[in-house]
Amino acid sequence: MSKKIEEPLEHSSRNCWDVYSSAADRKAVSDRADKYMDFLTRCKTERETVDYVLAAAAKAGFETKLTDKTTAYVHAQRGKTVLLARRGKKPLAEGFRLVGAHCDSPRIDLKQHPLYEDTDMALFKTHYYGGIRKHQWMARPLALHGVVVKKDGRVVPVRVGEDVSDPVLTITDLLPHLAYKQAEQKLADAFEAEKLNALAGHEPVGKTDDKDRVKRHVLELLSARYGVTEADLFSAELQLVPAGPARSLGLDGSMIGAYGHDDRSCVFSALEALLTTEQPEHTQLVLFWDKEEIGSEGATGAQSLFFEYALQDILDAWEPKTKLSHVFARGMAISADVNAAMDPDYADVYEKLNAAYMGQGACFNKFTGHRGKSGANDAHPEYVAFLRRILDEAGVPWHMAELGKVDIGGGGTVAKFLAVYGMDIIDMGPAVLSMHSPFEVLSKVDIHATVEALRAFLKS
Ligand code: MN
Ligand code: MN
Repeated sequence: MSKKIEEPLEHSSRNCWDVYSSAADRKAVSDRADKYMDFLTRCKTERETVDYVLAAAAKAGFETKLTDKTTAYVHAQRGKTVLLARRGKKPLAEGFRLVGAHCDSPRIDLKQHPLYEDTDMALFKTHYYGGIRKHQWMARPLALHGVVVKKDGRVVPVRVGEDVSDPVLTITDLLPHLAYKQAEQKLADAFEAEKLNALAGHEPVGKTDDKDRVKRHVLELLSARYGVTEADLFSAELQLVPAGPARSLGLDGSMIGAYGHDDRSCVFSALEALLTTEQPEHTQLVLFWDKEEIGSEGATGAQSLFFEYALQDILDAWEPKTKLSHVFARGMAISADVNAAMDPDYADVYEKLNAAYMGQGACFNKFTGHRGKSGANDAHPEYVAFLRRILDEAGVPWHMAELGKVDIGGGGTVAKFLAVYGMDIIDMGPAVLSMHSPFEVLSKVDIHATVEALRAFLKS
């Protein structure tokens, strides 16, 4: 007699709308989407995101003080990266469950000498951050977010353009009537970074013969509103981001159009997953980094030693006899990041059998990288099998994909920077359309499924 077959022979993926089809599930999907849209509307920079996380953590009883009695610990660095830890029933010597995501998104930064006047207009010089398609950021309302730090150390927050009564800024674009020559150019040549200057003023002050009267007006406004001078802009981080709230998308309102799904969808999902689980078996760690979009560099990126030092502190407080290297080697991690959803208009750059799809839940990316998997963390199949079991037992839909056709492009995430410690790690996140654009698209059912997937993982 042949062995009993417990699993179906063929794999077929599930549409999450069918999985979450009951009235109660649909309400949960909708409620969670509302909460997520509110989060996205509030959090458009890494600092705003970390502030949101710190407030939510404080409300949930996470403490900034670490002792041998602490069970929920939160530790932030420079307001741009943050670690949350909830102590498990098992010691750290038996490993941890870590979810990491990044809280920065592509955007347009102001240069340090930003303000100038030309043709009776005041403009800001900019320097883009992360991988953008420049033309997508032109001729649309932009809000100005960030901080200016005074010489005495005072940090002045700036947030203009979100309230409908606020003015917005914009980067102008060429009219089609005079774009005949530009239209013949290669896309990479047609839009120059040095032409991404943001319009910031037009009304002059002073007398007719004065020089740079429009620039002067903008400086007077900055001084009156923020107490900021032109020199203070040297010690500023000011970012132009798409203005306005996250929106329900589609006539059925089934999707969310917004700035920053990459990767705030995973920040939200990880936070939501952590704050809705009770005391876990293994210690839960949730980590949000900055600078992923420019290579995870700097003191607040995933290549920094922030996590290593923070985990050593936790170990010193909770299990001083345990070696850090042992904890790392037994750790299990998910690098939570979005994947590119199959776009029917650009199906030619995707390989349909191994593409990520809207509506199929969080998507595992066993490896990222370019060409011959260059620069990839390639997750071990033993770990993939473990995760399949966890999610299937929890009844959470998920799928498996890679980014586009081989040799067409590529991408990377923070996974490889954690893999160096010997821990198990894999990329996972929802599928997004128009990734890195000012208006990324994500399915409401996918954000729900992602939270459920991360919950199942953190509880394991
Ligand atoms: Mn990302
Ligand atoms: Mn990205």
